[in-house]
Amino acid sequence: MKDILNNLGLSELNSGAGTGTTWLECGGEILKSVSPIDGRIVGSVRQASAADYDKVAAGARAAFNEWRMVPAPKRGEIVRQIGEKVRAYKKELGALLSLEVAKIPAEAEGEVQEMIDICDFAVGQSRMLYGLSMHSERPKHRMYEQWHPLGPIGVVTAFNFPVAVWSWNAMIALVAGDTVIWKPSSKAAITALAIMMVISPVLQENDLPEGILNLVIGNRDEVGEQLISDSRLPLISATGSVAMGRHVGQVVASRLGKSLLELGGNNAVIVTARADLDLAVRAILFGAVGTAGQRCTTIRRVIVQKEVFSAFTEALIQAYRQVTIGNPLDEEVLMGPLIDRQAVADMQTALETLKRQGGSILYGGEVLSGGIYDAGTYVTPCICEARNDYPIVQEETFAPILYMIPYETLDEAIEYQNSVPQGLSSAIFTNDLLESEMFLSHMGSDCGIANVNIGTSGAEIGGAFGGEKDTGGGRESGSDAWKAYMRRQTCTTNWSREMPLAQGIEFGIKAADS
Ligand code: NAD
Repeated sequence: MKDILNNLGLSELNSGAGTGTTWLECGGEILKSVSPIDGRIVGSVRQASAADYDKVAAGARAAFNEWRMVPAPKRGEIVRQIGEKVRAYKKELGALLSLEVAKIPAEAEGEVQEMIDICDFAVGQSRMLYGLSMHSERPKHRMYEQWHPLGPIGVVTAFNFPVAVWSWNAMIALVAGDTVIWKPSSKAAITALAIMMVISPVLQENDLPEGILNLVIGNRDEVGEQLISDSRLPLISATGSVAMGRHVGQVVASRLGKSLLELGGNNAVIVTARADLDLAVRAILFGAVGTAGQRCTTIRRVIVQKEVFSAFTEALIQAYRQVTIGNPLDEEVLMGPLIDRQAVADMQTALETLKRQGGSILYGGEVLSGGIYDAGTYVTPCICEARNDYPIVQEETFAPILYMIPYETLDEAIEYQNSVPQGLSSAIFTNDLLESEMFLSHMGSDCGIANVNIGTSGAEIGGAFGGEKDTGGGRESGSDAWKAYMRRQTCTTNWSREMPLAQGIEFGIKAADS
């Protein structure tokens, strides 16, 4: 563990607030980050106080005034260099992610790869911050829109994707000309620090304004609340639970700021009788068990046509039996622990509630013990039979619980798929074009992501990522998500010697009769 921290430029006790090049003597309490694998301390941080936050925010505001004047392709060049640094440290960052949030190396390195990919994407985007031009209704007038940098923006991230989610926001925001203040989850604080350390040489060697990227690790009641209420930050991008987003959204709206919310999911896969069932089993295994069921896009419900329900459920149980559970650093392990004991307790409560509401456990759901399992964070992934309208099925339990729900007609399946408060990701498995088109149509899935013959998780960075309803409505990453980080300005220039008004309005003083 020490070697990994040393290679990434971290000490045993680190400052929780800084710019990547300068770190403050923080005044908050010490936070110890505990590994879910075995309860060992991964690293410690002296957290930021409210006064520390204020210094960082003032710095980010001042840096913005300079950074916005750097030409966008030059900002892109900085992001290119950041991407190169992360490429060079992919293994080390992946190893730290495995230790701190217990991802298996393939998934941990996959997350770092997402940051590399979004850096590449952002470099290209830096030359494509396009505005439209319009034809004016007035002669000799030119009309167009342009996009300006927005300001310093706040980025709040969840524990489960500390690197990817921050970089989706921060790398696009940087090329847009914004500065960034990052408040990561305290469960992934050391990874956040490591990222800042890895990219610090780029910030130092390019003669950049101090404070274009900032990190603040602090207590959510003090620093978190201060950040979301800070009117110096025109945009807060927040990723996490629906409860958190509801609160952040209200606080930001009350100061008429913008919020970009990426919240919980309750993702379903529809498996029709015309599906390739082997393909569906493989996809659902990864989508439901990968990252120990702790992705916002994790498959939580499988809605299966009645005639194949029993055979399909049995095939899935057989696949679950083969999942090796243990230390995510061991090569043969497919599923590591949950993030902490509270997550295990929440999973057990959900399973008890399910049984009370009429559902049953078909496989798994036990808390494991003995050896490394004594950390109290290891469970077996669980398959349950349920009805879609059980209150517990309507909730996102952030654990590997999969609800199997039978259906008869595709109308009914789509109705089930959409009848939850959340609207992040969805999928259908079918080889029937009419079924897949119906699922993708206006009367189909109501989610931000809709897939055919692939699962609900593992999105590529090129598309806009996000969901509807309680998932918050935000979009990040690719496509035109960059627009959220800029302000639009509509410009009209009159190059005639007349003053015609729009809509043909006459509003002038008549010339006096001669
Ligand atoms: P969480 O809501 O507990 O915390 C998320 C972040 O919000 C943390 O950094 C936390 O400190 C911060 N936070 C909480 N209250 C705050 C406040 N009052 N002011 C400022 N910051 C505050 O979520 P979590 O347990 O870290 O992550 C799991 C949740 O995140 C799940 O619901 C998952 O679906 C969701 N998630 C969504 C996406 C997405 O893109 N839609 C991606 C990853 C995770």
